[in-house]
Amino acid sequence: MNDRKKEQKTYNVLPGPKMGLVTPEYLEQVAELARRHQVPFLKLTGAQRIAIAGHQPETAAEIWREMGQPAGPRKPVGIHYIQACPGEKWCKFGRQDTLALGGKIEKTLMELDLPAKTKVGISGCQFNCCESYLRDLGIFGTTKGWSLIFGGNGGGAPRIGDVVGEGLDDDQVVALARRCIDFFREKARKMERTGRLMRRTPLAELQDYLKTGST
Ligand code: SF4
Repeated sequence: MNDRKKEQKTYNVLPGPKMGLVTPEYLEQVAELARRHQVPFLKLTGAQRIAIAGHQPETAAEIWREMGQPAGPRKPVGIHYIQACPGEKWCKFGRQDTLALGGKIEKTLMELDLPAKTKVGISGCQFNCCESYLRDLGIFGTTKGWSLIFGGNGGGAPRIGDVVGEGLDDDQVVALARRCIDFFREKARKMERTGRLMRRTPLAELQDYLKTGST
């Protein structure tokens, strides 16, 4: 294995920050760890996290320990993080409180076992800075409440997700997101993302499930 390949094998994502929110203390801790362990590469990821690379696996384990987190992701698939924009509290265009909703979604869905990797993006308005139409579960705010999108993907098999609810309050959007996730758990094959599931599933089947709780 050449040096470049070895470095690619040592790519890790630091624990936290949640929804991209950082404090000066967190950044100082990361900077101190990176300097002390001579981490050659730090990068802000598209998922609003901080990646470290180019170090040895034992260094990664040490860094995770020093950050007060178990080494590596808790589970191979499922929801690993919630992506959220600043929302109405911090952005002049924001129509809903993304960070508060992100906390509720995290509490309800984060620990569930799911068939495949599942990305969640919450945007505070229709500009959709968190690309909610391209997330497995996408949410964006309007003056009338939240809209919920299911089955989006921005990767190798891109798909614009389907709008499954509009004008929802916090509790309603969390409940409907949970129903979408239940559908995903019941219908998807192992390692099948929501986008692929919805390519082979009539939208009416999902809509009926969301109305009745089953098909
Ligand atoms: S989606 Fe809207 S509220 Fe969120 S950062 Fe973009 S413009 Fe602001």
